[in-house]
Amino acid sequence: MPTKELSNPCMECKDVEATLDIRKRQLCSDCYKRFLAYKIIRRTDGYRFKKNQSTRPKLLLPLSLGVSSSVLLHVLDSQIQRQLAKPIGAKVPFDLLVFVIEPSTIATSDNLHQQNYDLVLERFSTHAHTRLSIHDIFDYIPDMKEVMLEYAGSQFVDDSSKSNKDRLAAFRNSITTATSQTDLDYVLLTRLIVAVAQKNECEAIVWGDSDTRLAAKALAGVSKGRGASMTWQVSDGMSPWGIRFEFPLRDLYKTELEQYESLCQELSGVVIPDPPLPDNVLTKNLSIDELMMRYVQTQGAKYPGVMANVARTANKLQPSSSDDSITCSLCGGLIGNVKGNTGVTVTSQSGGNQGSKFCYGCIRSRPDPTR
Ligand SMILES: [Zn+2]
Ligand SMILES: [Zn+2]
Repeated sequence: MPTKELSNPCMECKDVEATLDIRKRQLCSDCYKRFLAYKIIRRTDGYRFKKNQSTRPKLLLPLSLGVSSSVLLHVLDSQIQRQLAKPIGAKVPFDLLVFVIEPSTIATSDNLHQQNYDLVLERFSTHAHTRLSIHDIFDYIPDMKEVMLEYAGSQFVDDSSKSNKDRLAAFRNSITTATSQTDLDYVLLTRLIVAVAQKNECEAIVWGDSDTRLAAKALAGVSKGRGASMTWQVSDGMSPWGIRFEFPLRDLYKTELEQYESLCQELSGVVIPDPPLPDNVLTKNLSIDELMMRYVQTQGAKYPGVMANVARTANKLQPSSSDDSITCSLCGGLIGNVKGNTGVTVTSQSGGNQGSKFCYGCIRSRPDPTR
């Protein structure tokens, strides 16, 4: 029973004043955090250290230092810390490998984030941490250079005397439109993250995509001709690389995650805020991904249920049962699972191998040979 009269008691604990509104519930900040954490943890429940296992399952958490992945890290870390704090019988469910891609090596960002990263290492020191640059993809996926050369086509000249960093930059500069560049960045990021997860024998990758982001990804994916790979890009399940993809934030809107972040002392100084998009930016200069993210954010604020429905419906997609298991050399998506689309074979210029096959989505982002 509350000891003093409260004007607006928290609907959960009823002990303190409610200060926050979430989904028509008025909660105090502790109950708000618990509510959000529960929605996340129940989605990683399947990963547990079982008696018949010799090692704990390991999950890779790609951390962009944005609000969503930082909140995911905070929630999973708190779950593990609660177990470690038990004097006896601690049941740590899984190990985390926190993976950061140096933002300054991704063209769209030039954020200096060393201080933010140092805070992550200091405050989340229980877990293993790795940081790489995007061009390290050439070390992790040795045939990537060859695939890129085939993909870029004859007008692209590669200079093997240059560093990995410069070679990747030249490749990206050969792509003309913002949509195609963002699209390929995402493909390369995914490939590198998967390669790191494989090398570290992770069972799954836990992505920090909110409901808002998943809805934007689903809509953008379809308009970019990547409908075939939507199953593993937005729904929980097996990826083409034999590692599970999980999206534990799928029930949460970005605004709810921002609210959670504001309540966590441990995240202060960690999260890099999204750069504000000027209102007068020409939409033709935005990629489809950026456009969709803007659309979902503005419309989601007005009609949250509609956007939640997009993400929920996408999560029900089933992978193709097609026997044709040929995958795209670049993005790893299935090639032959869209009716009438058998992909495109590009013969290696060096003539050394039989040529790579690329899916429809990747071919659409290819450098324009008529340029
Ligand atoms: Zn409460
Ligand atoms: Zn592809």
